[in-house]
Amino acid sequence: MSTLTDLGGIGKELAARFDELGVRTPLDLLNHFPFRYDDLRIVTPAAELGRSESEENAVGSIVRVRERRARLPIIEAEIEDDTGRFIATWFGRAYLIGALRQGQRVFVRGRVTKMRGVTAMNVMLHRSLDDRERYRGEIVPVYPATKRLTSRKIRQVLMRNLDRLVDLADDPLPQSVARSLRFSAADKAYRDIHVPETPDAAASARKRFIFTEFLSLALAAQLKRAERETGEKAKALKRPGNLLAEFERNLPFDLTQAQRSTIDEIWRDMARDAPMNRLLQGDVGSGKTLVAAAAILMAARNGVQSALMAPTEILAAQHAAKLAPLLLPLGITVEAVFGSQTGREREAAKRKLASGEARLAVGTHALLTEGVDFAQLGLVIIDEQHRFGVEQRAKLRAKGLWPHTLHMTATPIPRTLAQSVYADLDLSVLDELPPGRTPIETFTLRRSRLAKAYEFVRLNAQNAAQAYIVAPAIEESEFGTTSVTAEYERLRQAEFADLRVGLLHGRLTPREKDEVMARFVSGTLDVLVSTTVIEVGVDVSNATVMVVLDAHRYGLAQLHQLRGRVGRGAARSYCLLIAPDEAGELERLAFLTQSSDGFEIAEEDLRQRGPGQFAGTAQSGLVNFKVADLVRDIDIYRAAKRCAEEIVERDPRLEKAENRGLADLLEAQPSARAMLASS
Ligand code: ADP
Ligand code: MG
Repeated sequence: MSTLTDLGGIGKELAARFDELGVRTPLDLLNHFPFRYDDLRIVTPAAELGRSESEENAVGSIVRVRERRARLPIIEAEIEDDTGRFIATWFGRAYLIGALRQGQRVFVRGRVTKMRGVTAMNVMLHRSLDDRERYRGEIVPVYPATKRLTSRKIRQVLMRNLDRLVDLADDPLPQSVARSLRFSAADKAYRDIHVPETPDAAASARKRFIFTEFLSLALAAQLKRAERETGEKAKALKRPGNLLAEFERNLPFDLTQAQRSTIDEIWRDMARDAPMNRLLQGDVGSGKTLVAAAAILMAARNGVQSALMAPTEILAAQHAAKLAPLLLPLGITVEAVFGSQTGREREAAKRKLASGEARLAVGTHALLTEGVDFAQLGLVIIDEQHRFGVEQRAKLRAKGLWPHTLHMTATPIPRTLAQSVYADLDLSVLDELPPGRTPIETFTLRRSRLAKAYEFVRLNAQNAAQAYIVAPAIEESEFGTTSVTAEYERLRQAEFADLRVGLLHGRLTPREKDEVMARFVSGTLDVLVSTTVIEVGVDVSNATVMVVLDAHRYGLAQLHQLRGRVGRGAARSYCLLIAPDEAGELERLAFLTQSSDGFEIAEEDLRQRGPGQFAGTAQSGLVNFKVADLVRDIDIYRAAKRCAEEIVERDPRLEKAENRGLADLLEAQPSARAMLASS
């Protein structure tokens, strides 16, 4: 039985409507879960109605009916029980005209309001009762539905076929797992989610399905780990006893505690013969470059080469410029591999990398091109890892023999989220900024005070400092948002007519973008009007003011990243967030005026807006869950993760019979598939 039409009561027409909901097979139907339940069991006496914000139930006799036949028909019935009376109102139900009679007993459900002593219910649901019928309500599941396919119809079809459907379903969980977590059997869980006898029964059934979804993601990550541990070997590097001393000797400052422990974690990984796969997270300015340099040093001391790949030429060039003074005193030169270099430069770099003479290549995607070969590539560092595709990262690694890999990102991702979507990576966190940084002074301003913000930019420019003005949209067309193009034109002719203003957005060619950016970097522009394309990590120490228009369109984490473009030098820096003074927007943004801790901000953002928006996670498919929610259900995730570790420890390839259901689940579950395909 594999098509919906094999089920009772579903013909072609109805099957087509189910198709619109993505329900194509009987199993899809069984797994189409209610998103809420209406509890119709408890009836509130008329005298007590209106104490709850949610929908309430009542049972009584109709005393009087009034019908208004207009374009929007309104039916009002006065209903009475032993305790009092209330008015029940039906809006827009033409088919009910003439159907409700005086003396009739009815059950009604809806939201209740009280006004000037009158209790009124806006009826969502009703049923006539026989004179002597004792009202018995049930818990009614409410399904995701469409205009052409109501929740009621879905429920009806499910009820009619539930026994057959439940028989179809295999339980992916091994019995031992289900038992140890006290989950009921799968068939009972399905019944409890579709026809619960109590709200608790529905909730614990749901927990089983959430757990199962998480388990597949956690298992996928754990399997990848196991493969890394037991599969092809990397070169285990030696860590000379004085390595840290040698590294620190040339530094003009002391390492932060966070840098010290992160370097230690990385060096330990590199000393093992399982290839390192570590993610280094650290806010802009937390000193990741230094940590990368330490890893490169260890590789070089073991005679193997390193490659660092960044997403754009500007970022790659900055890395090269920062690494050179750290590594040169240690005898390590930087070889650049960029798209824009001359053929001659490229040939020279290629030669040195192929011969092994050069210990470090820093570059862009150009590193991936054929002919860029390494004598012995032992360490791969990928900056802003989420900006590269799976294949690109794999391609660079394939230039070595199972090299150690360090991923870096300046996008702080909440720990809870990172632990799940990056579960196949080990995490290092630079959660401490080097001393002496002054936090960027951040203010929220309502839109009507924009002129003040621009005045501030002008004042700033008179002191020869530069400013960014960021807006969300490129063109005017986009609904209600400020466009950079229009704002740029306007500012150039009005407020900033005497300043040098540039425009940057994603529809410029890469060349135009580089040109504008280069002008800003060299200080020949005072003001850069831009969308959010300004690179993470771009370092213009003379830029000290950022104005963000329509700041409410962004998440806190993104705004925090954005403002990291200023505050790169010694001068005090400012970030002005402009937003409408409505719907609590300014209040929501105010968090940024209090905190400069990227991780704290990311956690708050996760609370405010959910996991989908964190760089790379939405597109990655890793948070693509049907019932689970990484924020709400994080405890269930932890349990699933522990469980995955135990399963893989005993059965590292999922070959045992009891785990067959799990192996199938991995293939079926989108986030697990994404995890298995990632690198
Ligand atoms: P990130 O790449 O994480 O944004 P960088 O590595 O570029 O940060 O470091 C930012 C700045 O901080 C650089 O100018 C660097 O020299 C400086 N820095 C790094 N580590 C320290 C430290 N321990 N003490 C003082 N300054 C540091
Ligand atoms: Mg950096």
